[in-house]
Amino acid sequence: MPAKSRSLIVGNWKMNGLRHSLTEIAHVARGYDAKLRHSCDLIICPPATLVCLAAQQALGSRIGIGAQDCHMEANGAFTGEISAEMLADCGATTVIVGHSERRSYFAETDGDVKSKALAALRAGLMPIICVGETNSDREAGRTLGVIKRQLVGSVPGSADAGAIVVAYEPIWAIGTGLTPTLADIAEVHRFIHRELAVIFGTHAAGHGRVLYGGSVKPSNAESILAVEHVDGALIGGASLKAEDFLGIARAAPARV
Ligand code: PEP
Repeated sequence: MPAKSRSLIVGNWKMNGLRHSLTEIAHVARGYDAKLRHSCDLIICPPATLVCLAAQQALGSRIGIGAQDCHMEANGAFTGEISAEMLADCGATTVIVGHSERRSYFAETDGDVKSKALAALRAGLMPIICVGETNSDREAGRTLGVIKRQLVGSVPGSADAGAIVVAYEPIWAIGTGLTPTLADIAEVHRFIHRELAVIFGTHAAGHGRVLYGGSVKPSNAESILAVEHVDGALIGGASLKAEDFLGIARAAPARV
């Protein structure tokens, strides 16, 4: 299990990036110096077309390369799909599953997300399982209930608790510039840690890291990453530019 004392900073490029964008990964690699390596782990998830090239480029840099989705089956007649095994074969170490954009635009259910997380583990990848409430859930006071339902439905409790990362991403905060209050982030993260301990039957320290995602940028990263129970961040827009991504990583506290 990765040490929780180190923050995990993950970039999700979404459907952005052509081959020339790999220069951003080279730039991040140059900035990932000994001090930063001491405080945080870095993973970049480019689009599937770039995973192989990015993994080759990141060799020797200690930056992990991940994907943004996978199919639940290892192979077969699923035109257009990409399996976790194929991603691992390309050099990926990680895959995001259940991002809210996949849940809403591609109608992925909690059950689908759990199957994808299990597929990732089968292939030796670390799944980052996303959960998060809509604005109407939040306004109706349903945040914790929605998160609990998503965790119970999406997190495979039979798996090694330390092999899974959860990302809390309030949907209304993604790409909007809005963020919850630090107190709200702390409350939800505390709740997620407690629920994971129940799902896995572990002590609070026994499961993987819980990331916050939603409009994290260099200017707010320090305060968000300092919140108790926040073990890192999942970053969309601000991960596209190496300097912004590094700025967020540099804001991560060394929890040793
Ligand atoms: C995301 O899509 O996972 C995300 C957190 O996006 P942004 O950082 O742009 O809000």
